Amino acid sequence: MRDQILELEAISRQLEPQPADRDVIVQHVIDYGHRFVDNLPDMKAHTPIPEASVLREALKIRNDPQPIDAVLDNLSQHVDQGGINTASGRFIGYIPGGGQYYAALGDYISAVINRYAGVYYASPGAVALEESILQWTADVLDYPDTYSGSLVSGGSIANMTAMITARDACDITDDAIKKSVVYVTDHTHHNIEKGLHIIGLSRCILRHVAVDEHYRMSADALEAAIKEDRENGLNPWLIVASSGTTNTGAVDPLEAIADIATQYNLWFHVDGAYGGYFRLCPEGRDLLEHINRADSLVLNPHKTLFLPYGLSTLLIKDSQKHYAAFNASADYLPDFSSDDAMVSPADLSPELTKHFRGMRLWLPLQILGVEPFRAAMSEKIQLTRYFHETMQTKAGWEVGAYPDLSITTYRFIPQRGDVNDFNRRLLQSVLDEGRISTSGTVLDGNFVLRAAILSLRTHLAEIDETMDVLTYHAEQLSQQ
Ligand SMILES: *Cc1c(COP(=O)(O)O)cnc(C)c1O
Repeated sequence: MRDQILELEAISRQLEPQPADRDVIVQHVIDYGHRFVDNLPDMKAHTPIPEASVLREALKIRNDPQPIDAVLDNLSQHVDQGGINTASGRFIGYIPGGGQYYAALGDYISAVINRYAGVYYASPGAVALEESILQWTADVLDYPDTYSGSLVSGGSIANMTAMITARDACDITDDAIKKSVVYVTDHTHHNIEKGLHIIGLSRCILRHVAVDEHYRMSADALEAAIKEDRENGLNPWLIVASSGTTNTGAVDPLEAIADIATQYNLWFHVDGAYGGYFRLCPEGRDLLEHINRADSLVLNPHKTLFLPYGLSTLLIKDSQKHYAAFNASADYLPDFSSDDAMVSPADLSPELTKHFRGMRLWLPLQILGVEPFRAAMSEKIQLTRYFHETMQTKAGWEVGAYPDLSITTYRFIPQRGDVNDFNRRLLQSVLDEGRISTSGTVLDGNFVLRAAILSLRTHLAEIDETMDVLTYHAEQLSQQ
């Protein structure tokens, strides 16, 4: 039996590479990453979608070991291209993030040391490190120190976690569900409705409050709707405001909405997945001043702090309510509590074992300090204003409302023909060339193009080039 175990050991020890092997693999992987980053200026922002069968065949698990060169080559051919190049500075569609490089090194350290960041007694340092990110975020927002928070994988999960807390705090159960009203607008991100469905509240009434000409929630319409719902015996429960809608970047009037929430005793949630962290820069500071009135709020470092995908911050104003919704115990978990202990992340989120994800923000903030992040946010807002102002001086172009943050809409008005159809073809033509990647949306029944300027790699040169590409394609199409 011992012999057999030793035989297995000889093989299983391959899981722990020796220093020499490690050196070789690390060098290949680092070279690969550096080549990717260094080549970004020449890479397209959009490339054709390959056939799914080709991808499945190329990427399937082969069971036998493959040489590292071949593995990385496969990645570069089949994973790094196709669709949107989200790392490109010429990607201004959807909401870019970029992928700040030191964040990748943070993930590397997290994975190597593999600390158990879900439970305080298991890894007090890891829990403290993640708490420092929550505290820094709370400080940026002037959020009161009654809060508690979670670091989760993305905005959808963070919004859902907030809504679970609100559901439990307000006792939205049984018969109360179908009488309870959630106030949103047509521009609220679809993850809110999806989240309500997942947490068993699809029978709540979803009230779409009217927006003003800037696509911001109308506070008057909100108040009128709440009053009417009350008179009709319903239970106005939750307001979801957006501090930066995904569609146009519009910031709902947070102060007026907070006043209404207070007056009528509703839970006030702010979805700041896109825009919340703009509170850090001068251009966003005043606009987001009252975000701290929220009972719960969500901000995405993987958008506005330029990190790779996989980090969202959730803050809940009343830490007791947060804890009440998620704390749990089990016989196999030690009962560990002392006055000095921090609350375990596992008691504030659906997750038990979790990615030690705070490191990917903590490390860049330690290495770089806050200033480059603040400057980059200001730069993106100013680039968006520059794009908006320049495009409207160009013949044939029309722009949407003045941008609140770093998203703006625009379209070309051709001399003849259908405007919507022209702009759809314009978008396709731009994407087919692939030098830049932008996106479109529908506003008031019109198809418009949309620039979301939020990649750490988007600077003045990229925006000038974007405008050149757009005017070139519009002229080409006009001549057909
Ligand atoms: C991106 C976004 C979300 C969803 O966040 P994910 O991280 O993609 O899950 C929610 N709300 C708004 C306003 C967003 O921009």
